[in-house]
Amino acid sequence: MIIDIEKIPQEGLKISREFEFPSTDLVEESAVFLRPLHADLHIKMIGDEIIIKGTITTCVSFICSRCLVPFEFPIDSKFDLIYFPEERDEFKEQLEKDDLGRLFYHSQNIDLEEIVLEQLNLSFPVKPLCSKNCQGICPVCGKLIQSGECVCVKEDSDPRLDKLKYFIKR
Ligand SMILES: [Zn+2]
Ligand SMILES: [Zn+2]
Repeated sequence: MIIDIEKIPQEGLKISREFEFPSTDLVEESAVFLRPLHADLHIKMIGDEIIIKGTITTCVSFICSRCLVPFEFPIDSKFDLIYFPEERDEFKEQLEKDDLGRLFYHSQNIDLEEIVLEQLNLSFPVKPLCSKNCQGICPVCGKLIQSGECVCVKEDSDPRLDKLKYFIKR
């Protein structure tokens, strides 16, 4: 969805709609949408800066990186962005010094799809986990540790203790 910034009215533009993305666009390849992604966006021009405030809500399914079981991950994420025109030289100088997080727009058109997709990807966990305490799969029997089916004896291996054992044996 392309917005012509010259057509943004004084009071701003309010957009409330659903967006669809193929999973190949997502940073987490195991993600599957369980609900359409809904975005509420408020786009405003202040001078030549574009201010975008928005919320995205959806629910996706990830595959836990420890136990490989799919789990639901609701997303309700707010963002506040400011885009500066690219050709402002004063900012280019500043950019080199400090702020690498600064956003720029390059033409008269901004692509909302791209912006929403980026925000969605930012709301994903770096490593999907079904729960913080997920114990994953037993490396010995391959069963889920939490399921109770794994009866393998686990030796807590601490490299410092191993060394100690070695000395005791001798
Ligand atoms: Zn898990
Ligand atoms: Zn086991």
